[in-house]
Amino acid sequence: MKSSFRPTLVNGPFQDPALYVALRWQGDALLFDLGRIDRLSPGNCLRLSYVCVSHTHMDHFMGFDQLLRLTLPRDRELTFCGPPGLIDNIRGKLAGYTWNLTASYTLELTVIERHAHHLTRARFRASTGFAFEPLPDVAAAPDTLIETPAFRIATTTLDHRIPCLAFRVSERRHLNVRTDVLAARELRPGAWLAALKDAVRAGNATTVISLPNGESATAGVLAHDLIEDQRGQHIAYVVDTRFDLDNGRRIVALARDVDLLYAEARFLDVDRDEADKRHHLTARQSGFLARVAGARRLEVFHFSPRYQGMAQAFHSEAQAEFRGETRLEETDAWIAELAREARAGGDGRERRVAEAGG
Ligand SMILES: [Zn+2]
Ligand SMILES: [Zn+2]
Repeated sequence: MKSSFRPTLVNGPFQDPALYVALRWQGDALLFDLGRIDRLSPGNCLRLSYVCVSHTHMDHFMGFDQLLRLTLPRDRELTFCGPPGLIDNIRGKLAGYTWNLTASYTLELTVIERHAHHLTRARFRASTGFAFEPLPDVAAAPDTLIETPAFRIATTTLDHRIPCLAFRVSERRHLNVRTDVLAARELRPGAWLAALKDAVRAGNATTVISLPNGESATAGVLAHDLIEDQRGQHIAYVVDTRFDLDNGRRIVALARDVDLLYAEARFLDVDRDEADKRHHLTARQSGFLARVAGARRLEVFHFSPRYQGMAQAFHSEAQAEFRGETRLEETDAWIAELAREARAGGDGRERRVAEAGG
């Protein structure tokens, strides 16, 4: 079974950030950041079910109006997730229009804010003129944002002089039943297969499973022949953050062993001081973080327009550091420390955060 995720950046690397992740099997899609989305086809906009907003600087959020305009007459439920303040931001956007003709519309917006120990939620329905409806808070582990049967979205809060969320979307692991083995053993599919998969997921190899032919066997023995266990795909999305030890630790924990890391590179490393002042990463710093996180692939984007025409310089600088051809870790004590910690697997909490994505 192939991965369900099909990620694409909506815009070019000098334009607004927006990462579209189509979910092949579910038919819907996720969006990470909501800058200008004119290039996203209306059909693809209408497939969105979750929109994760890192922070509400204009280049990450101004696509809200266009998305709302397209989805307004549709029977849709859209969930927006982001940092504290997102509910007020969306409330303010909605308050900017007149809604006297939407009583028969069924569009519903749910907004979820990630706070330190809980999620704050609100709903806005077109049928009520998008009146603000607070929902009860939900307790949630610090990295958790969205859990569905098909995927999980984890998050961490970075310092961009304001809280800025980074995200990791993880596909659930696939447990595929080998139908050839079933047929060869003359075993009929049934509820016992679900029980077997549950035991495998829970790591309970000694659970005894009753088979349809009256026999029984342990989950471990059955799974060995019957189940193909495939790790799901993992994608991380990191934008607008300062290169320092705290942010570095959080990014490395979030993005550990991902298949693909999308990371901002606002500046080239020659302008490192300016990147630092503006709380942004350079291409080389993104390459370093991807390398120590053990990402399999890195794609940099969100380049400052001042470097127009120099996209190749960003890719080369980021990839050279990512592949270890240049090594930033030797330049500064804290960078060397972060690289050492990452090699050792970080502290226990961060290791768990990374593994929770699996
Ligand atoms: Zn920003
Ligand atoms: Zn930005």
